[in-house]
Amino acid sequence: MKKILIGTHNKGKFKEIGKLVSKKYKKISPFSLKIKSPKETGKTFASNSKLKVNFFSKFVNYTVISDDSGICIKSLKGKPGVHSARFANKLGGFNNAMKYILKKLKNMKDRKAFFVCSLSLKTTNKKVITVEGKVHGTISKNILGKNGFGYDPIFIPKNSKVTFGQMKKAKKMRVDHRFLAFQKLKKKIKI
Ligand code: IMP
Repeated sequence: MKKILIGTHNKGKFKEIGKLVSKKYKKISPFSLKIKSPKETGKTFASNSKLKVNFFSKFVNYTVISDDSGICIKSLKGKPGVHSARFANKLGGFNNAMKYILKKLKNMKDRKAFFVCSLSLKTTNKKVITVEGKVHGTISKNILGKNGFGYDPIFIPKNSKVTFGQMKKAKKMRVDHRFLAFQKLKKKIKI
């Protein structure tokens, strides 16, 4: 069976990406190979997803897929953006980060936000393919729902009345930024 390394230590992302990749692949995690994640020194989602895929590829001789993603909030000048994970870490976790965001947006009319996912895939012939998926929406007034991960409970995607955190996992996975990026990837390579 062909193998693919899903280059992320984020369990939520690992599950989502794992479900998107064809059943023909055995999905390997960096945890199981005892590989740590590289420092995300890039200034853009694309540079970080490329940096990750190139890093993880050094350890295996099969295909690697990595993403870099985050949430960009218009009234916060696009923050936390590429720093979405570090922002939550600094504040002591996602619950605190979401509370902080809701407080900041309390009196703001514009609650527009989007999730972005840059997805990079490196094949054994060393070619890197990078694509991007984006899902627009708004920030909810409260933390709602227990499904998903990260910022899911405060993000209401366009054309929905509920947050990603209130959606069934299977539904979220068919509309989110990773899914959209993956559709673009599939147009470029069989995966
Ligand atoms: P990184 O790509 O590993 O730097 O992490 C991106 C950050 O954005 C993490 O904190 C994720 O939890 C968050 N994030 C990315 N995608 C999603 C999502 O689909 N739902 C909720 N949070 C997400």
